[in-house]
Amino acid sequence: MKIVSVVGTRPQLIKAAALQPALRARHDEVFVDTGQHWDESMAGAFFSELGLAKPDHALGAGGGSHAGQTAAMLIGLEPILHAERPDAVLVYGDTNSTLAGALAAAKLGIPVAHVEAGLRSFDRRMPEELNRVVADHLATWSFAPTPTAVANLRAEGIERGVVLVGDLMKDLAARVSAEVRDPSVLEAISARLGVALAPGGYLFATIHRQENREPAAMAAWAGILAAAAAADRPVILALHPGTRAAMDRAGVSRGPHVAVVEPLEYRTSLALQLHAAAVVTDSGGVQREAAWLGAPCLVLRSSTEWPELTGTGGQSVLVGLDQERAMAELERLAPRASTMTAARRRAATLSLVSSGAAEAIVNALARLPD
Ligand code: UDP
Repeated sequence: MKIVSVVGTRPQLIKAAALQPALRARHDEVFVDTGQHWDESMAGAFFSELGLAKPDHALGAGGGSHAGQTAAMLIGLEPILHAERPDAVLVYGDTNSTLAGALAAAKLGIPVAHVEAGLRSFDRRMPEELNRVVADHLATWSFAPTPTAVANLRAEGIERGVVLVGDLMKDLAARVSAEVRDPSVLEAISARLGVALAPGGYLFATIHRQENREPAAMAAWAGILAAAAAADRPVILALHPGTRAAMDRAGVSRGPHVAVVEPLEYRTSLALQLHAAAVVTDSGGVQREAAWLGAPCLVLRSSTEWPELTGTGGQSVLVGLDQERAMAELERLAPRASTMTAARRRAATLSLVSSGAAEAIVNALARLPD
């Protein structure tokens, strides 16, 4: 099969890195980068770190409004699909690149394969929710990561072509986790970031959702990070450039002991999660990785597409932007007295197993669903 795969953002490059070797072993891939994320720290660096192929087509369609960006991608994709005449177009996740890839293909009658199908926050104020709902309803193959996602698709009448495949992000984390397991990896990261980092002695944070770029939301989560940070437990906030720009525009300041750093490499992100006292995030990928690595995680959202992670008894909890709740959960999940022992034990006993998603996807793509 000839498959055009469309990526554009950091998490899509990470998922593509998990799929590409298996995809290329079995099918012919034409690799298209929309350029939705374009700077070195959010995109360029991942090509070399993760061994991704050079894109066959680069659209350079980053920036602008949602409509402008999606329109530029549609206009860029159509002639490529006409020229390449693929058997399928594969899209990942829930971004504007996902929407544009699915729509451009479906309008040309080309079957669409959607990786991470069926996820729902049930919150249509989120641009991601709109993108994933449309992609799911256009898809011929719906590759679901969890049984909940399969049930969500069924509830919307989507049953044909649904395959429960597992999670590509877990597979990549399983592949590289041995490289970051030794706590001594923190020494080089500490030196580079200029912050003293001991196992269990810091918090790792990422924030990038659109709703968390509103001024009131930024003030609220900055307050949570400032309250959680201390001289002997700094917060490392790996800040998405879009969030940084929104903070600068609104004049939101970070608290003492909150170190704001540029977006980090994939392995550094995994290492900082594994050895942290706790992770604080609104990211879909980071909340999953923290759970797989066994790190306590405060999710700064009121809904999640991954309800199996935040069920009762888990190490992950939805705290929204409620500071009192966040601090109480932090103390419950990562009590100050035991985080060092917990982090060392977590790293020493880590055993992460691949879900086999890449193989399941490439096998299913070999023929059209019944
Ligand atoms: N990530 C990274 N560097 C960072 C922060 C995150 O490599 O500074 C990785 C993280 O480990 C995960 C992915 O980016 O694999 C998550 O992507 P993101 O949070 O941008 O998007 P989401 O998962 O919310 O769609």
